[in-house]
Amino acid sequence: MSNSPDFKFSNANLGEKRGQNLRSLRSNNLALLLSVIWENQTISRTDLAKITGLSPSSVTRLIRELEEFGLVTETGKGESSGGRQPVLISPNPDAGLVISMDLSGKQMSGGIFDASNKLLSVVEKPFIDLGADAIQNQLVNLISELLQEPVCGTRKLLGIGVSTPGVIKDDEIVVAYNLRVNNFPLKKILETEFDVPVYLSTDTSVAALAEKNYGAGRGKSNLIYLLISTGIGTGIIIDDQIYNGTVGLTGRRGHIVVDRLGPICVCGKRGCLESVASRPAIIDNAKKILLNGRDPVIQKMIGDNPENLDLPLITQAAKQGSIKAKSLIKKTAEHIAYALSLFTTIFGIPFVIIGGEVSRDFGEIFFSYIQEELEYLLLDDSQQIEVVPAKLERDDFLKGISMLTIQQLLNVQF
Ligand SMILES: [Zn+2]
Repeated sequence: MSNSPDFKFSNANLGEKRGQNLRSLRSNNLALLLSVIWENQTISRTDLAKITGLSPSSVTRLIRELEEFGLVTETGKGESSGGRQPVLISPNPDAGLVISMDLSGKQMSGGIFDASNKLLSVVEKPFIDLGADAIQNQLVNLISELLQEPVCGTRKLLGIGVSTPGVIKDDEIVVAYNLRVNNFPLKKILETEFDVPVYLSTDTSVAALAEKNYGAGRGKSNLIYLLISTGIGTGIIIDDQIYNGTVGLTGRRGHIVVDRLGPICVCGKRGCLESVASRPAIIDNAKKILLNGRDPVIQKMIGDNPENLDLPLITQAAKQGSIKAKSLIKKTAEHIAYALSLFTTIFGIPFVIIGGEVSRDFGEIFFSYIQEELEYLLLDDSQQIEVVPAKLERDDFLKGISMLTIQQLLNVQF
């Protein structure tokens, strides 16, 4: 038996306010038990009670529910420490399948999982086009592709989870600028198409929770997760719970204005954080600054084709002494630091995880510029902010989505 579960479902019911009702408390406990069983593979009820902190009678009752749902089975007897031999519980991977889809990256990706949350197959394709129709078609095709994988066998599909950028309300994507959709009833569309429950979640909330549970935020009860990718978004965890605030804010923190004279943003405003520090914004800036300025290091690297200009190349140029590449990374870091100084001060959270390709590709130099700028922006030494890179990869993220989906299924199935 290992020490503790890798992933705890601390609050998978992302749309729900704190002060949960009994039903969601029950589903959280079911999910917590399930995650410990997944982690340990074979475990007794006594050890489950010890690890989860639930009472032995609650464990017995909840395990019975999981057995009825088919998610776990009894698999023989363990060693006795004197009394009766304890009955061992194991996950049942044959209970069904869950599909996770992610719309937050450069590519549309998806994975199919068995009921013990093991990734069976993964698919990743560039977005063919944006807008509701194109995204709907591509999503339906990719899900169908996953379902036809031989590894699925005859197991039935239990549910689908979709993680998306933008603002989610009442099971619709209210707006996701980078997908060019608004009032997009994705849950309803996929439920009609596949005849199983579908759950939508905000990409940054899933990422924040996943990082907290098995990534860079392990052991932290409070953290801010900042995603810098095609867009910019945040996931905030306060007291182990996702903080949603007023509906809409979660998907809009990337649109706080950091430069009133800045470029026009995808949202229509001028100078949003996203318009100056997202990947497309950085590449645009780089093209303007570096190419017009005839930077010899860059010029040599890209040759005749400006399309070769990407984030790893800018980083490499900075390392090779390009002043312009360095100042571009510094400028981006200053915008990010400014936004972080607001978020950390307002929420009182001194721990930040940055995910997405900008932090990954810019790497160490980016983080040191952020730290430098934060020191300038913050009050004094008592306000130390720790900023670290995200740890999780695509597959972990898909796994997080499928876990949330199973928890939501537990919430409605009983
Ligand atoms: Zn904006």
